[in-house]
Amino acid sequence: MSTTTDTDVLVIGAGPTGLLLAGDLAAAGIGVTLVERRPHTLGNLTRAFGVHARTLEQLDARGLADELLATGTTLTHMRLFSRLDLDLTRLDTRFNHLLVTPQYEVERLLERRAATAGVTFRYDTELRGLHQDADTVTADLTGPDGPLTLRARHLVGTDGVRSAVRSALGLPFPGRAAIRSIVLADVRLAKEPAEPFTVSGSGDTFAFLAPFGDGWYRVMGWDRTRQVPDSEPVDLDEVRDITRRALGTDLGMHDARWISRFHSDERQAPAYRVGRVFLAGDAAHVHSPAGGQGMNTGLQDAANLSWKLVAALRGEAPDAEALLDSYQSERHPVGAAVLRSSGAIVRLAMAHTPLTRAARSLATRLLNAIPPATSRAMGAISGIGIAYAPAPGTHRPSGRRAPDVRLREGRLYELLRDGDFVLISPEGAPPALPPTAPVTLDHLTRATWADPAKRATVLVRPDGYVFSAGR
Ligand SMILES: Cc1cc2nc3c(=O)[nH]c(=O)nc-3n(C[C@H](O)[C@H](O)[C@H](O)COP(=O)(O)OP(=O)(O)OC[C@H]3O[C@@H](n4cnc5c(N)ncnc54)[C@H](O)[C@@H]3O)c2cc1C
Repeated sequence: MSTTTDTDVLVIGAGPTGLLLAGDLAAAGIGVTLVERRPHTLGNLTRAFGVHARTLEQLDARGLADELLATGTTLTHMRLFSRLDLDLTRLDTRFNHLLVTPQYEVERLLERRAATAGVTFRYDTELRGLHQDADTVTADLTGPDGPLTLRARHLVGTDGVRSAVRSALGLPFPGRAAIRSIVLADVRLAKEPAEPFTVSGSGDTFAFLAPFGDGWYRVMGWDRTRQVPDSEPVDLDEVRDITRRALGTDLGMHDARWISRFHSDERQAPAYRVGRVFLAGDAAHVHSPAGGQGMNTGLQDAANLSWKLVAALRGEAPDAEALLDSYQSERHPVGAAVLRSSGAIVRLAMAHTPLTRAARSLATRLLNAIPPATSRAMGAISGIGIAYAPAPGTHRPSGRRAPDVRLREGRLYELLRDGDFVLISPEGAPPALPPTAPVTLDHLTRATWADPAKRATVLVRPDGYVFSAGR
């Protein structure tokens, strides 16, 4: 029986996660409708402001990284708790830094790419409910002209922390409150800070500071003695006072263009896939902003899911169910690890008893003194160190991030811009495809090592992870 659908994939929520996912699917020729509750206006207020190295690599694989880099400033060092120095120049990537740029710049580029690729946008439209059967998902929406129903082969909820998709699936969002009453402001400073990126605390307070590179700074502060609901007004004096107590100076901050108070929870959905419906980004996991992981993790979710949906919808996955299930098995542990690490940073920042402050001092000293531990911390925060478990049926190294190697045909991340697998072989080697590839490899880019000494054959997934490598 054939089933009619309005689109192949319905993506609910045009934040960074939904925009990247929808753009990837449309670029591969999949029909995508992106539903967004907001009217079509991109805000000029920012939530996320840190784009990590692995995210820049993913954007490079879509031809967007250099344009995004031009919108902000890069930081090569981070100083945490006065002792821990993270030297990002040691990361083995073209992007060995943190890019500080407002979230709306990331969204602007991703929205433009999605529109160019042919995504159908439906703004002012809200998902109210959904149901699915063996072949389709039906979404109940309310748009500018009233209720409407759209049917698709798959639906992805990228609708943020209060996800209506997650609720419609009946999934819980277990976890706990991470931190309350954080004040946040974008300000100008009369005095340059000695360290451009710093997190420090006095015991009852902590503050964080990072430059946007255009004279504006993001400040975040927390005061144990003033724990109030998000609705409680906040002014620049409160931000100044916390910063002074945490960092020893308020650096003459003035002219706030944005001030707010918020809280954050640590929560994760137990399942990222229920039948034909998926969750990604904040809809699937949420945690404190410590480590600047939220947007970055959502974008990596989208990059992991998009090529799997493309292969399943094109009929190129011999076991489409297993391939789609691997989204959960690969990304759920990453989300859980981010909850743990961002939670640990925030608890270190809030340390106030002599014992917990001594523990923080010891932990940061040890991390600083043991280079492999520092490297692991930088790998986790930047995303460069994230690897997936080896694909079933292969005993070869796989699931590792593929570095941006030089090939005869260009850089690997330039070749990944077609959205296909890339098979890298030594010169003159017979074309050998791994027998266990998860897709039929009808869409394959063949490449040759630029370095003739390299003799391995490596199959790289469209999201820049090594599927298999052999001699
Ligand atoms: C103060 C602060 C600082 C942060 N700093 C960082 C940082 O430095 N680095 C970092 O990586 N992350 C950071 N984050 C987190 C980051 O902002 C989020 O993780 C990111 O926005 C999540 O993207 P998303 O696309 O998954 O969800 P969202 O950006 O929340 O987008 C969801 C979209 O879905 C829409 N929507 C919701 N419900 C519906 C519905 N029923 N129907 C249709 N549309 C719907 C919403 O209008 C919204 O546009 C920070 C967050 C905060 C609050």
